[in-house]
Amino acid sequence: MQITNPTTLEKIKDVTEDTKESILKKMASSREAHLNWIDIGLEERLKKVKKFSDLLDQKKDQLATTLSLEVGKPLQESYNEINGARKRILFFLENSSKWLNHQVQNVDGNTTDSLSFDPLGIICNISAWNYPYLVGVNVFVPALIAGNNVFYKPSEFSTLTGLHIAELWKESGVSEDVFTHIIGGKEVGEILLDCPFDGYFFTGSFKTGQYIANKVASKMVPVGLELGGKDPLYVTEEIKDVLQVASAVVEGCFYNNGQSCCAVERVYVHEKIYDQFIECFLNETKKLKMGDPLDQANLQGSIARLPHINFLDVQVQDAIKKGAKLLLGGTIPKKKGSFFPPTVLTDVNHTMSVMKDETFGPVRGLMKVKNDDEAIKLMNDTDYGLTASVYSHNIERAKKILQEVNAGTSYINCCDRVSPYLPWAGRKHSGMGATLSFLGILAFAKPRGWQIRN
Ligand code: NAD
Repeated sequence: MQITNPTTLEKIKDVTEDTKESILKKMASSREAHLNWIDIGLEERLKKVKKFSDLLDQKKDQLATTLSLEVGKPLQESYNEINGARKRILFFLENSSKWLNHQVQNVDGNTTDSLSFDPLGIICNISAWNYPYLVGVNVFVPALIAGNNVFYKPSEFSTLTGLHIAELWKESGVSEDVFTHIIGGKEVGEILLDCPFDGYFFTGSFKTGQYIANKVASKMVPVGLELGGKDPLYVTEEIKDVLQVASAVVEGCFYNNGQSCCAVERVYVHEKIYDQFIECFLNETKKLKMGDPLDQANLQGSIARLPHINFLDVQVQDAIKKGAKLLLGGTIPKKKGSFFPPTVLTDVNHTMSVMKDETFGPVRGLMKVKNDDEAIKLMNDTDYGLTASVYSHNIERAKKILQEVNAGTSYINCCDRVSPYLPWAGRKHSGMGATLSFLGILAFAKPRGWQIRN
């Protein structure tokens, strides 16, 4: 399998994909190693996870460079991702024991009811390329802490980062039989679906997630799905500083080239401040210099998957054909590489793909609304339900609006962020189950109830 740099479209290197035979062999070794991983106990496992986090820090220059080369992410954002992953790991280090250790629930006369947790077994983690450290950590860290072995298949677009992750686990004292990496794309993923795993945890698109959920349903094992989004943001007229809000929304729209599951994908603006907001939004977007992600002056890198620039182009053309106004960007640059500029469309509506289908790139539509009711209706007009955001200094009003929007995360005066203390739980086509928080610790464990009579 060839690994290509999306910025230059040149080959970085070739890697050898896994096969059915290699996967079955790795599974047999993993089964053999599993008991030992359980036996070393929670405290020992936490120490190894801490070491992994330390190594992420020590090697971050090399890791960040590889990530930027491989997926086109601006270098500073690659550093941010690695630092963010370490913060999530810290959450798991500090909170896992509290949830996983044996807990007495009730004492009734001479009978004690208590709860303990067993690992699921050997779990399969099929992952996405857009934040390989962050979405990886959400799954493999709590899974390993809870005593599971992990088969980790990074996306074919972030294979080299996946290999770094595997090396770091090995260096942390977690053997390849406990954290097993698998190289390949869709076909190799298919082989994993046919293997007897004790749980499937997937991060990626709705289409693949739905397919995987169907394919493994008869196994009756836990399935966790972190899928796409079409996340709305509503700017009310009750904001103090239009420029400051516009600047924050631009970041929410275009960070990581808009290739985030929780990127702001749709912006609704109250008519009272619409013109002023659009002007500020446009000016702030114009500041996003696009180019080589390794050049720190650039805030926009290349688009990770070359074919996706055609999808972005089609979305822009569809909007223009249906009456949208193109204020910025919108054309594929002539220069070599997988690039698409930050693009701003107004006069959009919900007959246009840009307001309905996940864009996963730097194209955004902004729409004027008359009041909160109209905003709520439009915000809910989506198959997805990952996050939703309202900007207003009237917190009660913002809460009331968000309470009516069907999304797993509600943001007030912020957007496009993830807290490890809260469940990351998409609704509708955005997913099933939760990672992070105490729910994302317990997602990788089976409860065992004990009723002990003395
Ligand atoms: P994708 O669905 O194309 O691929 C994801 C993974 O699935 C890859 O490893 C791929 O090789 C594998 N795969 C593809 N087809 C398969 C099959 N038939 N059987 C088994 N495995 C298969 O998604 P992507 O392009 O890597 O990621 C982008 C998507 O991920 C976006 O929709 C984004 O919103 C979503 N995402 C969601 C979250 C979240 O937390 N909710 C986080 C990051 C990304």
